[in-house]
Amino acid sequence: KERTLAMIKPDGVSGNYTEEIKRIVVEAGFNIVKERLTQLDKETASAFYDEHSSRSFFPHLVSYMTSGPVVVMVLEKRDAVSDWRGLIGPTDAQKAKISHPHSIRALCGKDSQRNCVHGSDSTPSAEREIKFFFKDLVSG
Ligand code: ATP
Repeated sequence: KERTLAMIKPDGVSGNYTEEIKRIVVEAGFNIVKERLTQLDKETASAFYDEHSSRSFFPHLVSYMTSGPVVVMVLEKRDAVSDWRGLIGPTDAQKAKISHPHSIRALCGKDSQRNCVHGSDSTPSAEREIKFFFKDLVSG
C-alpha cells in the first residue's frame, strides 16, 4: 500500500468541512494513518511550499496558509497519491466546479488559491511531506 499527505487548508477548517472531508476520505477506501491539527507559522508554511518561493503569488500563499489552523493527515491505500489527487480535483476550484463537480475542491474551494485541500503530487513529494509533518513516522 502507498501513503500520501493530505491537508485541509485554513479555509476548509474554518468553513467546517473537516468532518465531511474525512467522511469522503474513508468512503473512498483510504485509511487515515495519522492526523494532526496544527497552526502553521510563516517559516513552516514557506518551507512547505519552498518550490513556489519564486512565484509572484508566494507571499499571498504564505499568508493564506498561516491564516488559521490546518489538518494534516497521512492517508494510506493502493495508489494513494494519484487517487487522492483525483479526489481533490484541479488546483483552481472555480474550474473544478465545472470540470470535476464531485471533487473536494468543487465542494469547498473558492478559487485558484483558496482551494481547501492539498495532496502530494508524487510519491517522492509524499515521502518528503509526510516526514515534514510527522518526523516520527517511518514509511513502510
Ligand atoms: P497543492 O500543492 O496545495 O496540493 P496544487 O498542486 O494543486 O496544490 P500548486 O501549483 O502546487 O497546486 O500550487 C500550490 C498552491 O499554491 C495551490 O494549492 C494554491 O493554494 C496556491 N496557488 C497556485 N496557483 C496560484 C495562483 N495562480 N494564485 C494564487 N495562489 C495559487
